[in-house]
Amino acid sequence: MPSVFNCSCLFASFRYLVGTMKTLRELYRIGVGPSSSHTMAPRAAALRFVRQFPAAIRYRIALYGSLAATGKGHLTDVAIHEAITEKSVEIIWKPEEELPLHTNGMLFEAFGADGACIGTMEDYSIGGGALLSDDQEASNTYPEKNLAEVLGFCDRAGLSFWEYVQLREGEVIMDYFSEVWIAMRESVERGISCDGVLPGELKLPRKAHSLYRKSQLLTSSLQEDALLSSYAYAVSEENAAGGVIVTAPTCGGGGVLPATLYFLKEKLGASDFDVRRAIATAGLFGNMVKTNASISGAYVGCQGEVGVGCAMAAAAAAQILGATIRQIEYAAEMGLEHHLGLTCDPVLGLVQIPCIERNAHAALRAIDCAHFGILSDGIHTISFDNVVDVLLETGESLSTDFKETSSGGLARIYRKRYCGDCPKTD
Ligand code: SF4
Repeated sequence: MPSVFNCSCLFASFRYLVGTMKTLRELYRIGVGPSSSHTMAPRAAALRFVRQFPAAIRYRIALYGSLAATGKGHLTDVAIHEAITEKSVEIIWKPEEELPLHTNGMLFEAFGADGACIGTMEDYSIGGGALLSDDQEASNTYPEKNLAEVLGFCDRAGLSFWEYVQLREGEVIMDYFSEVWIAMRESVERGISCDGVLPGELKLPRKAHSLYRKSQLLTSSLQEDALLSSYAYAVSEENAAGGVIVTAPTCGGGGVLPATLYFLKEKLGASDFDVRRAIATAGLFGNMVKTNASISGAYVGCQGEVGVGCAMAAAAAAQILGATIRQIEYAAEMGLEHHLGLTCDPVLGLVQIPCIERNAHAALRAIDCAHFGILSDGIHTISFDNVVDVLLETGESLSTDFKETSSGGLARIYRKRYCGDCPKTD
């Protein structure tokens, strides 16, 4: 039977994915939340499988590891049912089991009219909405393997980061960044104008609108903090409500960059050209982590989602503020370094607590990192590449309780306090 992967393949772990960077189109994906890894990628895999076996009369889909542990809160089943509307679909949740290449494994089976299995497909959601199968197929766009090599190239050629991105991807990539920016901007604007309660058992009220309104009453730096926070809340609440957002680098961490860009555009009057160029530079940093470590909360915890979102936003902000490439690298390094070890323990498996508030904190920190960056000469001891290595090391050392399973930390405390320590969120 056809299978995307042979499980007995040589690859012993997810780490084999470390390679050269793909196009930033793979990093920035426009789609519906609340989770790029738990909704966007399973939806895409389900659509692909149905295209492969259209004659099937029913499908069975087993979800493993983190996908199963937090899939109900993250609406994985809803995403799959939306992708396969006209056939019977059975979803099996296997939170205690993992397939060999990544905790977010999926096994698809198609059945014919006589009940026999006519096809299977195994795939993995590896973070930021990407499927392992996509990752294998996408061509390598960037020959430079780490930021040190990019910096060396830019130094020799006299390029800024965004010019480097444009050189590698072609000028047409800037048109895509225009689409990305429109989707980001709209997610902020929808979010700050919405009120009410977010979907899910937490019955969490939206806060972006009230934060935005209150910011109008404040003055000086407090007002700026409130404004920036309201934009991050807006996108993250839109994400939690299943609205359209951009993965930056994921849905869960996708509030930081748009909030920072929106804030700087408003505050400094940055042009759309400035913003597109900042999106290019931010993407370069996010892609570097995606390639050389991971942006999957299920693999490395929240340091790979909100931590990377902060690094991307810090790089973007530093560039808009006029930083040199070394100052930009320093800003991004600080944004990531100070999120090292950040766990992923979403309450009830929803992308709400701690996720929404955390995006706002990271946006505030991103601006601080950009300020630190431009106040420095860009020289510092620990490089961005070093921090990426440590992120991977730290993530691989984290207990699975803290990697998008909702088994430990805040999720466990909430269950203990409000649900009689029920063993599972789902
Ligand atoms: S805690 Fe972080 S990594 Fe985990 S679901 Fe929330 S935003 Fe994503």
